[in-house]
Amino acid sequence: MLYERLHVTFVGVVATLVDSIVVAEFAGYWLHRLLHSDRFPALSRGHLIHHFLVYGPRQPMRAGGYHDATDNRFSVGNVGIEWLAPSAIIIVVSQSQKAARHSSPKRE
Ligand SMILES: [Zn+2]
Repeated sequence: MLYERLHVTFVGVVATLVDSIVVAEFAGYWLHRLLHSDRFPALSRGHLIHHFLVYGPRQPMRAGGYHDATDNRFSVGNVGIEWLAPSAIIIVVSQSQKAARHSSPKRE
């Protein structure tokens, strides 16, 4: 079976997908809270432009501004630098931890 050739199990694949979703939602939630906290004013400003100017209160749920979160600021697709920079840091830190775990000597 394909799973055996790839040295993975079905349960392992499903667990990895579920874990990935949980970690992404957890990180995304706290990143969003950080963007609202004003601890990094430059990042918070970019995010709050979306909330209060581009897609402000009393607009329909899916108004045109909702789909244009960056309003001609730097973005990849519709994701602004205020999300990209912290996300890149989270990915680098998590991958560094993963690499450190795999490169540490095995205990016997
Ligand atoms: Zn927000």
